[in-house]
Amino acid sequence: SQVYLNGVFLPLEEARVPVLDRGFLFGDGVYEVIPVYGRKPLALEAHLDRLEHSLAGIRLDNPLVRTAWVSLLERLIQEATTDDQSLYLQVTRGVAPRDHGFPLQVPPTVFAMSKPLTPVPPAWVQAGVAAVTRVDDRWLHCDLKTTALLANVLLRQQALDEGAVECLLLRTGFLTEGAASNVVLVVEGVLCSPPRNHLLLAGITLDLVLHLAVQLGIAHAERPIREEELRSAEEIWITSSTREMVPVTRLDGKPVGTGQPGPIGLRLLSAYQALKSHG
Ligand code: PLP
Repeated sequence: SQVYLNGVFLPLEEARVPVLDRGFLFGDGVYEVIPVYGRKPLALEAHLDRLEHSLAGIRLDNPLVRTAWVSLLERLIQEATTDDQSLYLQVTRGVAPRDHGFPLQVPPTVFAMSKPLTPVPPAWVQAGVAAVTRVDDRWLHCDLKTTALLANVLLRQQALDEGAVECLLLRTGFLTEGAASNVVLVVEGVLCSPPRNHLLLAGITLDLVLHLAVQLGIAHAERPIREEELRSAEEIWITSSTREMVPVTRLDGKPVGTGQPGPIGLRLLSAYQALKSHG
């Protein structure tokens, strides 16, 4: 199927970026991943708002106005082979002789594609998944969704090496997020999540889940979460656009709560399933 590259729609196999692209050389770019259900993007405006935040955070002008983003993504959605999709878009600081300093007058590289959304394995939701913890050794701008993901890649792989699905990150003894997800937990009956600041990505899925919590009358606290609270939580859930809500039932080899997906998260998950299919 067709992808978008710098104003042109072309087959993926034909899409080429020069080796001097700063995305390739420096990871000098930002990206978004937007879930699409029944050919309708979920929370598109929120994703495009976050893209603006990421671009501003790396001092790159938004190459396209909002309506241009929407119409190019709409074309990818309509031309894709499946109804449920994951849209990927990326903007880099363009192609220029290798030099750390910003190039002058160089157009950004703009790329977008759709791929079929991989369904969350039913067993992940029924039984929950294993996660491990690691020290969060990323930089201090984790609110920006940059393509420079080496730390996240290494952390995620450490989880996979241990047969786990996600790596939960601790900075100075406090939970931040997962290698590619946000974390919500239940501590003494209260739904909790870490403060949204420069240490973690403001997840769109988390936002949707917290809105659903308000609707369902589930109390929520946004507050710093100590490592011991994470380890003794009744429920731990990871959220992301592609994985929705997944219960973590083992953390570093020990059961979380009862060792089964917990009731508060399950209520939120079924509300999320309804939201994604009916908008
Ligand atoms: N945190 C990180 C580091 C991520 O990479 C992601 C997305 O994959 C998330 C959180 C979840 O964000 P969202 O719900 O907007 O997909």
